Amino acid sequence: MQIIRNPLEWQQQTSTHRQAGRSIGFVPTMGALHEGHLSLIHQSKQENDITCTSIFVNPAQFDNPEDLENYPVTWDDDIVALEAAGLDMLLYPAQGSMYPDNYTYKVVEQELSREFCGEFRSGHFDGVLTVVTKLLNLTHADRAYFGEKDWQQLVLLRRMAEAFFMETDIVPCPTVRADSGLALSSRNENLTPDERRIAPWLYKIISSEMTVAEMRETLEGKGFRVEYLKEFEDRESKKRLLAAVYLGNVRLIDNVER
Ligand code: AMP
Repeated sequence: MQIIRNPLEWQQQTSTHRQAGRSIGFVPTMGALHEGHLSLIHQSKQENDITCTSIFVNPAQFDNPEDLENYPVTWDDDIVALEAAGLDMLLYPAQGSMYPDNYTYKVVEQELSREFCGEFRSGHFDGVLTVVTKLLNLTHADRAYFGEKDWQQLVLLRRMAEAFFMETDIVPCPTVRADSGLALSSRNENLTPDERRIAPWLYKIISSEMTVAEMRETLEGKGFRVEYLKEFEDRESKKRLLAAVYLGNVRLIDNVER
């Protein structure tokens, strides 16, 4: 597995593969890898000649410096998992190298990005859309893989790729869950043992037959602080119920078909 720290070198290497006629699948991540990330990599390996991943904890998408500081880092384990998954190339950008402009240029979406998570995490999706644009420009990927766990992000990225005539297909991948139903997330690492016992109720409750009002009440009864619990409808897919909740300081999101 090749590990590249310089974005321009990465761009050159991926371009060489593309010119040689090899298809490229790309899986951007923020590290602290789990089976959810690895499922994206496995899918990419089935559909492409070369599979690349990036590990970059993107400061531009954090609205809260404490949240950025507490974001889990498990570098050594990540490398072992990526090697075992048979990854070809890893971009691990050197400090500052992704923002030579100091983030004076941004990709901004003005409607959906202000709702749901965007209502509570100001500037979050500007950061996501900007970094994914940079990564796609660097990678020459035929396909880029994103998890349905981050449903709003996936919709925004799919629409962005369409809006800017991007050449990379945005491929949605199903949410990977623990046996308890809890959606795997890097942030689960920060749950206390007690919170870990409560967390699986999120999926149990939002996938139940209750009304949204009953779900909210039940979640609060279990000890969750509900940030939002709201239905989302778009042209491209069936109605979804999107949820963001807190357990202590840990923010969890999930979504289900409705
Ligand atoms: P992150 O490292 O959290 O930015 O996630 C990187 C990619 O992995 C994103 O496309 C996520 O949607 C996806 N992902 C994270 N957790 C899961 C999961 N449990 N199942 C499927 N995909 C996931």
